[in-house]
Amino acid sequence: MIKYKLVCKDCNTIFDSWFASSNEYEKLKKRKFLNCHSCNSLKVEKTLMAPQLINSKTKSETKLNTAKYQKIKKTIKNYQKFIKDNFKYVGDNFAYEARSIHYKKKNKYKGIYGSASTQDLKELKDEGIDTQMIPWIEDKEN
Ligand SMILES: [Zn+2]
Repeated sequence: MIKYKLVCKDCNTIFDSWFASSNEYEKLKKRKFLNCHSCNSLKVEKTLMAPQLINSKTKSETKLNTAKYQKIKKTIKNYQKFIKDNFKYVGDNFAYEARSIHYKKKNKYKGIYGSASTQDLKELKDEGIDTQMIPWIEDKEN
């Protein structure tokens, strides 16, 4: 199967059409079986312009996404800095530390951060311990 973008010379509609092969396209065209989807005109041509349009669009979208990602990354980095400066890192002991703060009313630290499984977070929530999930970027990813 081959997909062609076809353009109508009469109304400029561009539409996709599938053919078994490029020969089939030629055959259908000769027999006047190819017609415009919107005005039924037979002046339908294969277009080579469309793929290029798609490419340049994809490129600028990628650029945009990268810019967007960099912006989000910067926000996360700032957030991380704040947390690192104010909270105690407990690594994988997050659930344990969160419980000990909660149950022993330890006020030694303003807060803690670390990693926990979704299951841990669910259990903590059930026990009435508030946690916040934030996206985390490892420093080595710079
Ligand atoms: Zn048309």
